[in-house]
Order: sequence, then C-alpha cells, then structure tokens
Amino acid sequence: MNRRNFLKTSALGLAFAAAPISLSAADSPTRSTGRSGRLNLSFEPYELKLKHAFNLARSQRTTTPDVQVQIEYDGVIGYGEASMPPYLGENVESVCKFLNSLDLGQFADPFRMEDIHDYLDNVAPNNRAAKASVDIALHDLTGKIMGQPWYKIWGLDPAKAPNTSYTISYDSDPVEMQNKIDECAPFKVIKIKMGLDHDKEITEAFRAKFDTPICVDANQGWTDKEKALDMCHWLAERNCLFVEQPMPKEMFEETAWLRERSPLPIIADEYLQRITDVKRASEAYDGINIKLMKSTGLHEAYKMATLARALGMKVMLGCMTETSCAVTAAAQLSPLVDWADLDGNLLIANDRFDGIKIVDGKVTIPDRPGIGVELLG
Ligand code: MG
Repeated sequence: MNRRNFLKTSALGLAFAAAPISLSAADSPTRSTGRSGRLNLSFEPYELKLKHAFNLARSQRTTTPDVQVQIEYDGVIGYGEASMPPYLGENVESVCKFLNSLDLGQFADPFRMEDIHDYLDNVAPNNRAAKASVDIALHDLTGKIMGQPWYKIWGLDPAKAPNTSYTISYDSDPVEMQNKIDECAPFKVIKIKMGLDHDKEITEAFRAKFDTPICVDANQGWTDKEKALDMCHWLAERNCLFVEQPMPKEMFEETAWLRERSPLPIIADEYLQRITDVKRASEAYDGINIKLMKSTGLHEAYKMATLARALGMKVMLGCMTETSCAVTAAAQLSPLVDWADLDGNLLIANDRFDGIKIVDGKVTIPDRPGIGVELLG
C-alpha cells in the first residue's frame, strides 16, 4: 500500500489530519534530494481478526485492536505496530492520542534511539504499546538505512533462534478443540492456556494425540498456592517445560513460595512490564517473558534480556496477537533467549506482512534488512 492509500484507508483519517505529525515530507521539494532529514510518522487503526476465539482465564475475544505505524525518513519507510489486548489497558483511541501528541520531526537522526525513547517516556507515562510501535518502526528504518537485519547488528547467530511454541486454549466445542489440537502437528513445543476449569482435560486431550513437550500459561488463573503446586507436579510428569504466571501478579509472596517448591521453572508474564520490574521479579520467579508491547519495543527488550541473564534468570520472548510486523521484530532478538512464543501472527486471519517463518518448529528470521518484513499486496 502506498502512502496515499495508507492515509486514505485510515478509519480516523480526518482526525489524523489535525495531528501535529508532519505527513508532508514525501511531497516536499527536499524529497527530490533524498535528504528530507526529518522523521515523518503516520498511522492507521487495523483490527486483527483471530482465526479462533481466544479463551483466557479471565476473558474471551475474537478480535484484537491494533494500530499500524510508518516512519519515513529520506524516502525510507520503517514499519511498526501497536497491538492492544484489553488487559494491558491501551486501546485504539489511547494509542492514536499518544501518537498524535508526538513531534518526531524534532529528531534529525533516527539513530538517536536513547534520546527518542527518553522523549517518548517524557511525553506520557505508560502507553507501552504505542511506544513500541514507534520503536519497532525506528528499528526497521535504521536497519534498512544500514542495510542489515537487527540480529546481525546485535551480533546474534540466527541459527541459535529457538523453537517457538504454538498456543492452544480450551474450547467447549469438542470438534473445535480437536481442530486446535490438530493444528499443533508442525510445532516442537505447545503452549497450553490454563487457569480455567479444564486444565487437566485439555492436557489429556492433547497428550492423547501428541507427545510434544508442552509449556503452560495459567494467565494468573490459579489462586490457591497448594493447588498450583499440585498442578506443577502433575504437569512435570507430563513433559511440561515451565509454567508461566501461575498465580495473580498480586500474589507475589505465594508465587515465591511456589517457586521454592515447584519442580518446574516459574516464569513471570503479567507481573512484569519493563526493565525496572526485572530485579524484583527475580525474587519470586525463575524467568521473565519479554514482549515488545510491554517493554516499549526492541530497545528496552534487549536490555531486559541482558539484565535477566545477569540475574541468572531464564528468558522467554513472547508476543501478543500481532501481524508479522511486530512478531518478526521480536524474532530478531530470539537467538538471545531460552524459549520463544512467537506465534501471534499465526493466530490472525488478516496479516498484512510477510516476515518470520516457522521452519520445522524453529523461528526462522528473514534475510532482509531492518526488522525483516515486507508489506503484502
Ligand atoms: Mg502469558
């Protein structure tokens, strides 16, 4: 989609017209010199349609609100994305409001990541997905200017990218449940969403078909520490690798109690957002799940992985339901981590990018500069 169509298709196009964001550089006389020297931000809401209803411990949904972002600089376009699952507290309106409030035109150099991130944090607190969308687009842009993918810029070996887990959740319709299980065939690790009333049932239904290792995400659904410990023992006997966010994030002491006794590593997800949360998390969890929509993007995600390692923690890299844009950006970091859960693009029916591939269950990073994506169509 060219820039004109990108703006035309914006559901909130009129509202954006009033934005302080400069959208004019591509048409300006300086464009012809190839040196407009300004960062030009544009964006549009884009609702993600899920292939299957997503059943979590505390909610169910069939769509995810999302905003697609572009940053243009000297004729080069970087792509970014904000995905907003409801539990994170952001929505299309809040993301557009944040992006509209930015003046990225003040930055003449897209490589000034530290300064730009300081600026984003000074504009408003929180807004992590909105900040991530800018961060991802900047990484795409700067990687393209350098002509290199980010895994290479960071000095990582793409052959060390881990297998990705593929996520399934319980479905009360037995046919639909079986369909979900059948879709697991190509994957080497399966993540099962738990914390509902059917945790053992779904595990046994899966085990009846596959002996693939599983990991479990309880999504804060277990509220009794003794029962949580029983489940950890039960799962350890069923080839489970780890348990993610077994109890509500507020139950910190209980989680520390569980970690002391659990035969399986306990990983923090909802408990932790940004780098300032990592040290405290190390007191109750064995590892952290880093997601770009929580960490404000790749810049801080890289630092979080480094800090977690220094604290002796396991590192997992996850995602939301997202297009291949944000998932492929996360994949650039994947050679750094123990476990990857990068299937968010596979769970949606209307991806607009080509990017990350899962080959024989393994994260495969495209050989393209930037974050490694190409716009489809
Ligand atoms: Mg999780």
